[in-house]
This record gives sequence, structure tokens and C-alpha cells, in this order.
Amino acid sequence: MQFLTTLYHELISFLGIEQLLAMYHTGDYRALLTLKGVLAAVSPVIPFILLLEIVRAILYKKFRIEDYKIPFLIFIGNRVIGRFISIAAIAFCIGLFENFAIFKTEFTWYWLIYGYIVWEFAHFIYHYLAHKVRLFWCLHSTHHAPQSMNLSVGYAHFFLEGPYADVIRTSICILAGVNPPLLFFIMFIDGTWGAFIHIGEGVLRDGRLGFLNRFILTPSHHRVHHARNPLYMDTNFCNLLNIWDRAFGTFQPEDPKVVIEYGVTRKINPNSFWDVYFGEIYYLAKDVAKAPGIVNKILYIFMPPGWSHTGDHKTARIIKKQPSAVSPLPAEG
Ligand SMILES: [Zn+2]
Ligand SMILES: [Zn+2]
Repeated sequence: MQFLTTLYHELISFLGIEQLLAMYHTGDYRALLTLKGVLAAVSPVIPFILLLEIVRAILYKKFRIEDYKIPFLIFIGNRVIGRFISIAAIAFCIGLFENFAIFKTEFTWYWLIYGYIVWEFAHFIYHYLAHKVRLFWCLHSTHHAPQSMNLSVGYAHFFLEGPYADVIRTSICILAGVNPPLLFFIMFIDGTWGAFIHIGEGVLRDGRLGFLNRFILTPSHHRVHHARNPLYMDTNFCNLLNIWDRAFGTFQPEDPKVVIEYGVTRKINPNSFWDVYFGEIYYLAKDVAKAPGIVNKILYIFMPPGWSHTGDHKTARIIKKQPSAVSPLPAEG
């Protein structure tokens, strides 16, 4: 019985419907007119589309357990520990930097625009470093391991990635004067949109969302980000406003001639929790161990993935420059 109660609470929490249930029990729906109520109503959207995606795949006999198994295991693993560390990291950064903010903002529409542009910049920095610094790639690569796209991929993260991302994003935003309530509101929009852009081709074949593709970052752009095709590698780091990808030259629209191949470039067993979760850390430790001299050992940790002390680099930058990079995939490296 205890097990069933726990399972029930886990399900309610995953679906994000605690507050809606509370409204239903009290019959007081006025809360829906408040910001908190609106947030409560939006929270279940992604989990429900995810369930819809799975049900649809089952009905069309396209459900493959391996598309969901690893993200599900990772979600369970992160459920408690990752969340607590993240909340603690956010609180710590706010306490540390609030007094050093360049100015004070309020919860108004124009500060929301300002806050979102700053947030997106901070997100770009975190995400760019996650791809360009090998140590941070160890935290982020779990999210890039799945070889097909569906909403469960949005839940697949190494448990320390959230805290790492939140330290960078919160610190930059707080220093730039984004006040905590505004920051939390932005985090909510970012989290919801960040989950939605992982919607699979089964539910939404064309991820470009019509004219929106020209103005914001759509599922199509994020599919490109998850691709290991050379043309697509290390592009589209933003989450909702892709202004910073355009500013820093990492913007890449989907090319109908280049079919997306999801996953990472190294050989990986996508059905092994251990390989998906710890594989990159294992290979980094191996490279550090065999590298000659302390300088090379340190360089392995901080240089981009694919960097080699022998000079035979296989970084994304090098792969993209190869003549074969235009269409088919290069040999796995
Ligand atoms: Zn990424
Ligand atoms: Zn993603």
C-alpha cells in the first residue's frame, strides 16, 4: 500500500498537477486568474504530450522501448538528488551575487524582455562551454546520447548538469540585475519551452512551426542541435530566442537535403545506462591517464572533445572543415 501511495505521488509530481488537483478539491478556480494559477495550468502540458507521444507510438505500432528506456532510467536516477543540488546551487548564487547586481529590476514586461535576453545569453554561455570544454561535455553528453528524438530526451541529463547550468545562468542573471521572481518566471518559460523543443517527428513531423521558425528557436532548430552530421555539429545553442546563435555565428537552419542523424560521434551503446551516463567520463579518465606530462593531462580536461596531444585532433571544428563533411557522416571517431 505504501508503495502504491509513493507511486501515486511520484506520478502526480511528474505530471505537475498537484496545484490543479488542489483547485479541483477546493472548487476554487479563481487561482487560474493569477500568475501562480497560470503556471500551474501550464506545468502538465509537456508530461501530457509525452504520454500522448508514447500512446500514439503504441497505437501505430511504432513504439520502441529503447527510445524511452534510457531517458526513463536517467529521470528516475535524477529525480531526487539532481533537483536538490540544483535548488541549493540557485539559492547559493542568488545569495552570493545579489548585492553585486549592476542595478535593480522589477517584475514588469520591459524588464521581462531585458531579463530574457540576459538569460538566453547566460544559457548560450553554459551550453557553448558544455560542448567546447571536455569536462563539461562529460556532464552534457548524456543528453546527446539518444539516437532518436522524443520528449523523454528532455528529461535525459547527467545529474550534475543541472547544477552546473544553474550556477552559470543564475550568476550571470543576478549580476546583470535580473531579480529572483523575474528569474524564476523566466526559468519556468525556459524549462517548458526547452522540454517542448524535444517533441519527436512522430507527433510533429515538420518542427519548423511555420513563420515562427524565422523568429524563435523551434523543434527543427533543436533537432539540428542534436544531430551528429558535420554540418549540424555544435550549432543552435540557444533555447527560445536564438539571437545569440545569430550574433556568434552558430545559427544553423535545418537543410532538407541533410537528413538528421541523432546521437554523438563516438561509438556508444545507446541501450546501456552506464555507457550513456558515464561513458564520456571513462574515456576522459583514460585519455588523462595515458597523456604524457601534467600539461597534456590538464589540456585533455579543458580542451574541446576530440582534442589530442598528438596533434591528430578530431574536434567538431576540424570535422566540419573536412571535404566529406558536406553530406554523408564521417567514420565514427
Ligand atoms: Zn547540447
Ligand atoms: Zn536537447
